[in-house]
Amino acid sequence: LFIAVEGGDGAGKSTQSARLGQWLQAQGYAVLHTREPGGTALGRTLRELVLHGEDGSVSPRAEALIFAADRAQHVATVVRPALERGEVVITDRYLDSSVAYQGAARALGHEEVRELSLWATQGLLPDLTVLLDVSAERGRARRGRVHDRLEREADDFHDRVRQGFLDLAARAPERYLVLDAHEDAGRLAEQVRERLAPLLKG
Ligand code: C5P
Repeated sequence: LFIAVEGGDGAGKSTQSARLGQWLQAQGYAVLHTREPGGTALGRTLRELVLHGEDGSVSPRAEALIFAADRAQHVATVVRPALERGEVVITDRYLDSSVAYQGAARALGHEEVRELSLWATQGLLPDLTVLLDVSAERGRARRGRVHDRLEREADDFHDRVRQGFLDLAARAPERYLVLDAHEDAGRLAEQVRERLAPLLKG
């Protein structure tokens, strides 16, 4: 079972995926909790390159290719092997982040970026994507001190990211759980568990 947790910066993805992982482990599942960008050694180098350069130092297409390379390595060496071992894989960010950030916010195009990612992953899609929907203002307040180049982008960039995620969820609602990230963390975790229950039985 492959679960992606998506959402803008400051949505609370790592809190929710950690809670979900702990709950699944308590239910007896073997769980691998991982992340993009930076879920592999190569990915950590790529993460540094893409997030900590000067503003304007990485062109939009180069940025899209670096995230795609990170994902290719992550899927080939971490995600697929764990799925083959029968583990539940939870990843903070996956293909939707590329479509939202590079496709929508950087205007490289939804379909083109999606195709690039599907090529990188040989078509691997999550069974469920949990989208934590967060407004630009709230995300900015929650992430506090700015850490990287993308977080420095203005609110209109983050508005386009948000809309990019929502458009993806609207296209395939059966594979998404869209939650209002402003809700209490405990209540959000409960909704994730409820949505997951039928998938765990199946
Ligand atoms: O979620 P995390 O903080 O690890 O993400 C690192 C940064 O990479 C974030 O600022 C996010 O905005 C950015 N990112 C991106 N495009 C992606 C994935 C992440 O711009 N495809």
